[in-house]
This record gives sequence, C-alpha cells and structure tokens, in this order.
Amino acid sequence: MGANRDPASLEGYRPFPEERTAAYRDEGYWRDTTFHGLVDDRAATTPDATAVVGPDRELTYAELASNSRSLADALRARGVAPNERVLFQLPNCVEFLEAFFACSRLGAIPVMALPRHREAEVRHLLDLFDATAYVTAGDRYDMGFDFVGLVDDLTGEFAHLETHVAVTESGDGLPDGWLDFATLREEPTEGGVDGVDVAPTDPGVMLLSGGTTGMPKGIPRTHNDYLFQWEHMAAAAGVEDDWVAFPSVPIGHNASLNCIVGAAFWAGATVAVEPVLKPGALLELIERVGGTYSLPIPTQLIDLLEHPDVDEYDLSSLEVLVSGGQKVPPRVVRECVDRWDVGFCNIFGMAEGPLVCSRPDDDVEVQAETVGRPIADAAEVRVVDMDREAEVPDGTTGELSVRGPGYFTGYFRNEEENEENFDDDGWFYTEDVLARREDGNYQVFGRIKDTIIRGGENIYAPGVEDVVAEHPSVANVAVVAMPDDRLGERPCAFVELAEGVESLTLDELTEFLAERGMAVFKRPERLEVRSQLPRTGVGKLDKKLLEERIAEETDAESGPV
Ligand code: AMP
Repeated sequence: MGANRDPASLEGYRPFPEERTAAYRDEGYWRDTTFHGLVDDRAATTPDATAVVGPDRELTYAELASNSRSLADALRARGVAPNERVLFQLPNCVEFLEAFFACSRLGAIPVMALPRHREAEVRHLLDLFDATAYVTAGDRYDMGFDFVGLVDDLTGEFAHLETHVAVTESGDGLPDGWLDFATLREEPTEGGVDGVDVAPTDPGVMLLSGGTTGMPKGIPRTHNDYLFQWEHMAAAAGVEDDWVAFPSVPIGHNASLNCIVGAAFWAGATVAVEPVLKPGALLELIERVGGTYSLPIPTQLIDLLEHPDVDEYDLSSLEVLVSGGQKVPPRVVRECVDRWDVGFCNIFGMAEGPLVCSRPDDDVEVQAETVGRPIADAAEVRVVDMDREAEVPDGTTGELSVRGPGYFTGYFRNEEENEENFDDDGWFYTEDVLARREDGNYQVFGRIKDTIIRGGENIYAPGVEDVVAEHPSVANVAVVAMPDDRLGERPCAFVELAEGVESLTLDELTEFLAERGMAVFKRPERLEVRSQLPRTGVGKLDKKLLEERIAEETDAESGPV
C-alpha cells in the first residue's frame, strides 16, 4: 500500500500561493516561526515557567525545549526524515507534547489520529499519509484498547512504517521492533537534527476532519497559518501567562490543539493534561491544578453541569470557558456563566480553519445566542448565497466562506473535495449555514446537510434542538431528518433524559414547544428516548448515525410494499 511513493513526498499538498505568502509576511500576519521556535522563545525568556503538568510529570519550558530536542535527535537517528508523517495516537499526556515539538524540530509532520479511531481509520491514515512512524500508548496509559497489538499486526502491510514507539512504564513486554518512548528520548545520538532547517511555510501538522461515517480527510496546517490562529485565539480569550489551560477533548483535535494548547503556549501559560476525559476526572483536575481555561464540547458541559458532585469541587479558578464544535444550547451558556462566573467564548471552529467566537466580556446575550466575531481582523470571512455567487446581506442566512492567513489551502491528496469546496480565488466554502447579525456577531444555523426539508419548508435542526434542550427533562438532544413518503423528510428528536427523569412523551414535548411558540412544521414528529446517544470520535453527538438508524427503523416499520 502506498509502497511506491517516497514517504517524504508532499505530492497532493497545495501550498499557499506565493502572492498570498508575500502579503501575509508584509502585513506581519505571519511571523515566520515554527512550533518548536515558539517553545524555544519561551524557554529563552521564561525557562523556569511550567509548560506542562501531567498526573505524575511536569516540565518547564526549558525542559520541554530540551526533551523535544533529544527526542527529535533520536527519531532522526532512527531514520525519520523531514516531511515524513508520524501517526500519533495518544491520550492527553506530557509525552504527546514532547513528541509534537520533537516532530516540529525535525521537520516531520504529526498526524493527529484520535484515541477513538480503530483499525479501519488507522489503516486508512497509514496509507493516506505513508506514515513512517507511529507513536502510541503502551502500559503507561490505559486507552482501553491495544493499539500496540493492532499496529504490530499491520506492520507487514505498510512497508514504509519502520519506527514504532509506545509510552510504557518500563519498556517490558513490547513486541520486537518497538521502542519505549522514554528510552528513545534518552538514547545518545550523533548529529541528530543539526542542520535540519524547517520552513514555517511548510505543513507542521496534519489535522483530521471529523468525518463520522466517511474516513477522516487530511488537513495540512503550516506553522505560519496555525501559529497565526494560536496567537489570535490567545488574544480573543484573553489568555494570561499565569493561566492553567486544560484540554477537555483529545489534544489531537483542533479544539484542544489550537484553542487551548496552542493559545496557552503562545501566551506562555501552563497546559495541564489529564488522560481521562470523564466529567469526574475533569472536575478533579480543575480543583487540583487550579484550572483556568478550557474548551469542553457542549455534551461535556452538560455532563459537568449535571454531575451529581459538581458542587463538592472548588471551581473558583475558572476564568474562561470556550465551547463549540456543535451548537451550544443557549441555556447551557447561561447556566455556566451564572454558576461559575466565567467569561464565555461560544466558538465556531473547524480543523480547516474558521474561528469565530464571542469574547469573555461580551454581553451574555451575545455569548448565548451567537458565535461572536472572527478572531482576527485579517481573516476574510463572508456569508454567501447557496449558489456561491454573491454575499448575502446581514441578517440573511447563507454559506460561510473564508480565506486568509489562518486557514488551510486544501485537503491532502483529495483533489475531488478541493475542487468542490474551493474556488479559483482560494475561497473555501464550509458547507455551514450562518448569518451575520447587524451588530457584527454571527449565528450558526447548522450544516447545509443539517437542514430538514419538510414538504418544501426548510427546518434548521440546531434551531429546534436549542428549544427542545430547554425542556427541563432533556439533557441532550439531536434532531434529525426521518424519511417520509409524502413530505420527503420530517423531524425526529433523539433525547437523553436529565438526571433522575424517568420519561418524556412526544405529547409533553409538543406541548412545551407550542408554549414556546415554535412553528408547527418545525416540531419533531417522533421522539426517541435513549439512555446514551452515540458520540463521534471527539464526543460530539453523532447525528449521521442517528439519521441512518431512524431511516432503517421507519423502513422496517413500513414493512414490505
Ligand atoms: P471538526 O471537523 O470536528 O473540526 O468540526 C467542524 C464542524 O463542527 C463545523 O463545520 C460545524 O459544522 C461544526 N461546528 C463547529 N462549531 C460549531 C458551533 N459553535 N455551532 C454549530 N456547529 C459548529
């Protein structure tokens, strides 16, 4: 598989056009530094400041710089070369960050697989990226799955995959050919990355699209364009150097890597990592490290708010919460602000780049009802009509389209998608429906495909979800299209009930929605109560899967024709 390609080849990567590169440099948007260059700067100015805290290890900025250097030297000596791709599949841990900055130093490109990816995704990623190295957790962290075994079995299939690294307690018990992370880092080397020159205009990381049914797509981000976002995210959220930022979703996801880890390092703050991302562990973490800043996705915020012991924890250190990745129900924003007295950044983000968010000192109405404004003035953001021809006026919904110094330039080795979603001027079309209000704040109405078309009427599912979520019996809700012979589609609500609630009927829900003034055609016509709704790799509600399930169920119920 991919055996004939040079594994360091960037064929299938679309660089920024020269004129845009020149303009972003001239304007000072790009600072022409690298991920490891940033850590080295911090190590020079505040060497003893704590960069990263884990459950049983912590590193100052000077130590992070020097450990990533040793590891880069060892990986280079083992044969990993610039531009080659290194597949990461790690929990949130100190080693993740050591390895991330080590790759940056040697010009190798980490590929951000998620801990929830399994054989099908791992195979796809090894093939798509021609990965030459794989870094995962051995017995030091329990990931609930044997990744060492999985990839060991696949090795023969991928001739280019030569370096296998696992984070273990002692190195014992690893299959032949595997290296223990800490032992590798300490390995004496000669030369190492001396003479390796990393260009800030080259990809420094491959993020992955959050596809649920399809396979993830590769999203190359250069040092320059990703650092641009780290800088502006830090400014938008007001991150201070004495803050303790903690990723609540896997670091491999843009939500954590960009908005939390990246913004924190940009500001010279501390990143606290916790491998277990369950609500109880996160509450403990906040109390233990004095957590200031994080991005839990909406389902996690709901879990935290509803946790039976939430009031037992001292959460007074929290300063700013960011949430997004999926529509944040307005009532959840208001509850977080009321309960924890935090600044709230309601964010619209995607690994491809767009970042629009409310600011911590905005009015709560703006934080609850909108996703605020672009994080940087230099970002070119517009809302266009569905023909992708003209910008629509404020207050009108359309597709979000972006271009600028903080956005990607195309999926890796996927010309079909690139043709579909970029125009000749380099504008990327997000397939997300938003509107800009007259006050400049944006509102999200969902994915284009999140629109339920009922007898010709468009229903934006997230708008319905917001109101259903206000029902006191509802903890989480996803409204999806169910097929209908006559009307084409009709809305169906899947809900998880709130703590201690036994039941909810469609009649009760309908009455509630009618009281709230929801138009009749938008009200869900079927209610499915589940103890747990399915989640995607990063923990978002998996609406595609629910849509498939309800289609199968309605099909089975209608019986043979
Ligand atoms: P990902 O690929 O996981 O980065 O997800 C990006 C997608 O998540 C976007 O294209 C949106 O469809 C969705 N998304 C992100 N933020 C929000 C938000 N605040 N409200 C609604 N949808 C969002």
